[in-house]
Amino acid sequence: MRRLTKPELCNAIVQKLQSLTDAVRVASDPVKEAQKRWKAKHKASFDAIRSALEVMASGRGRCMYCEDSLGTDIEHFWPKAIYPERAFLWSNYLLACSHCNSNLKRTLFPLDTAGAPLLIDPTVDDPAQQLLLVPTTGEYRAIGPKGPASIAVFGLNDDSRPRKMPQGRRAAIISLTALFKDYAQTIATDPVRAEEIKVAATEFPFSAVFDWIVATAKTKNAAHVLGADVVAIIVRYKVEYWRRQD
Ligand SMILES: [Zn+2]
Repeated sequence: MRRLTKPELCNAIVQKLQSLTDAVRVASDPVKEAQKRWKAKHKASFDAIRSALEVMASGRGRCMYCEDSLGTDIEHFWPKAIYPERAFLWSNYLLACSHCNSNLKRTLFPLDTAGAPLLIDPTVDDPAQQLLLVPTTGEYRAIGPKGPASIAVFGLNDDSRPRKMPQGRRAAIISLTALFKDYAQTIATDPVRAEEIKVAATEFPFSAVFDWIVATAKTKNAAHVLGADVVAIIVRYKVEYWRRQD
């Protein structure tokens, strides 16, 4: 998981969401009202919301939780079945794959004793402060209070078929470092192909691994962890600025 920034929505959609929220708040049964209005929601408005989420998601619209599968669902971070007054809040929307949304998270939403979520919202929290990537295994280790529940609920260390999340992150480390080397060898002779390599790297699944590599390259153990050649490439070609939207 990586930190994501939410853009502003256009005024017309903001107003539409506000009127839906107002209708839910005054309803005698807000849960039922939110479900009904969610089913009947205006397609064009919510297509625009989905598009905004796809643009801000990692890679080409990947799930904001697992970063592997395609994000197909507008996900309510605070479940609408429990918090209907948040069903039409832009701040409550994320993009998730159907597995993370419907099979894993569902209405699971643990809170701490102060009532704050124990799951990571990548548009609010910095996942790097909660989860530490262990490069030798590809697993996440919880380092913040939201780490344990996030790993458990989103199955972030699930190594069973077909997800194999840690193996996916290991593959991302190997693939991205290979792409960086390929870029360095190509940039002088074939800049068009080098640009394609750059896009491939920034759109690679498990995009938090890209961030982890860039951050690791700045540490004193960088050469030991990544290899001195890879660190030199990351510095020389300013890999930390490769993501177009950053
Ligand atoms: Zn997912």
